[in-house]
Parts: sequence; structure tokens; C-alpha cells
Amino acid sequence: MRSERLLVLVLTRRCDRNCGYCPQGFEDADMSEGVVDAALDLLPLLPPGSRVKLFGGEPLLRPDLVARALGRLPPGTAVELPTHGKGLPAVESLLARRPEVEVFVSRPDPWAARLRGVVHNFLIPPGEAPAATARRLAQARLLGYARFNFLPAYFVSWSPAQVEGLAAAFAGLRLVLGRWADAGRPVEVVNLSRLGSTPLYNDGLVVDTDGEVYSSNLVLAEAVRPHRRRLRLGEALDPGGLAARPAADAQAVLSESYPPEILSSMRAVDDALTVFCLALGAAEAR
Ligand code: SF4
Repeated sequence: MRSERLLVLVLTRRCDRNCGYCPQGFEDADMSEGVVDAALDLLPLLPPGSRVKLFGGEPLLRPDLVARALGRLPPGTAVELPTHGKGLPAVESLLARRPEVEVFVSRPDPWAARLRGVVHNFLIPPGEAPAATARRLAQARLLGYARFNFLPAYFVSWSPAQVEGLAAAFAGLRLVLGRWADAGRPVEVVNLSRLGSTPLYNDGLVVDTDGEVYSSNLVLAEAVRPHRRRLRLGEALDPGGLAARPAADAQAVLSESYPPEILSSMRAVDDALTVFCLALGAAEAR
């Protein structure tokens, strides 16, 4: 039995958006059905209760592969589907049959708000006024979102003043969340239940479109491309040959891939997020 608790399938390296803070590297490459099947065959190697993430690029550019993966997974398997949301109506009936699928949307789309358990990946860019951040949160809540994953833009430079602004924004969000909880309308902060060795990305068994297996989906970041072999474990089609661990850990590869000013910004905004989460965790424990 392996120790990873997450299996990530990179269904496509394509995306039809060009979000300003996205660190991903894109290619015109999709997973074949054979690789989808081989990747899912790795799930029994992981401990019971492990999660599956159907990832991209934008995974709903290949709704057929999403349907194939869900069709092969036993009902009740915890599945995450991050998406920008445009393709969700096309898989509405599929999702209705698989309520255990957790959809993470990067935009507060009104249509997606009605999906059970939907999570809004709430990006906070550098320089946004704290009042504007709180306003966006309130607007998403009004649409019906009740689960949030807060993400400062990680892979860009933040000035010290912008980091201070982020800390102020988090302090404001804590007040808003506390008021909602006191009023009997609590929301879930999903960050409190997710841990990883690098910001934004996940540790696990990560199967790329070509069937290569890595220890983190950090390998999808454009800046990590020259170093990705250091995170390689093997091939999905040869599960017996998968290495127990990669040549380097994701944190070391991250540090080698980005310039110092980005790394120090990353640490600063991650610290601000950690302070926010610790304060929320302490409030919940009271
Ligand atoms: S953030 Fe998501 S939707 Fe935006 S470009 Fe990156 S992969 Fe595409």
C-alpha cells in the first residue's frame, strides 16, 4: 500500500481561459481513454478513502473523459472537479447522479451555485482593497455559495504594502465570517481541511496526459517544466515500476523553479493565509 491519499488525473493540458494569475503551462494534449483507465487502476494502491481529482487545464473541455472516469469509479469515491464553470451545464445530469463529486469553481457563477457542496476557489489578487474583497465574498454568499477555498495569487510578486493589505483583507473576512456564523448562516472554509507541501498544488499520485506519474501536480506549472523529472515516479501503464518516492520533494523543486522575489512573496502571502486559518480554527474550537 502506498502512502499517498490523492490520485490526480490530468485529463487535458488545454484551457480556454487565460487567467492573469494562473501559473499553469499549457499544451495541446489530452489523456487517452487507455491512460484514464490505467490511472484509475492505481487507486487501489492508495489507502482506503483516498480522493480522486479530475484536473487540467480545464477538465470540462473533455466531459467525455470526466464521464468515463466517474463511470469507472465506485459510487461514494471522493472526487474533486476543479473548473472555471462554463462546461458545468453540459454535465449537469452526470453530476446529479454522483452527488459525492465536489465541484470547485474559480468564478462565482450563479448556475454553479446551485450544485450541492460546490466550493468557490476565492482568488485574492495583489492590491485589491480589503473592502472590495469583503464585497466579493458577500456577493458570492448572496448567490448561494457556502463553501470557500481562499487563495491569494501565489506565483506573482507582492509588495510589502500589498501583503499588509492582504492581512487586512483576511482580518475583514474573519469578521464577516464570524457575523454569519453568529447569525446561524455559517460558511465552510475548505482551506481548514486541506494541507499540502506547496501552495496551490497537491501531493499525491499525479498522472499526466501522457501517462507519466509524478508526486505532485506542481509539475504542471510552467516554471517547473525544466525540473519536472525530479518529481517523476514512473508510468501509469507500469504500476509495478512506480518509485516509492521521487528524486526531490515538491518544496525543493518549487524553490529551484522560481526567482527569490516570487518565493518570498509566496511565503508572505501563505503566512497571511495561515494566520487567517489558525484564527478561524481557534474560533471554531471555542
Ligand atoms: S486558472 Fe484555471 S481557468 Fe484560468 S487559465 Fe488557469 S487553468 Fe485555465
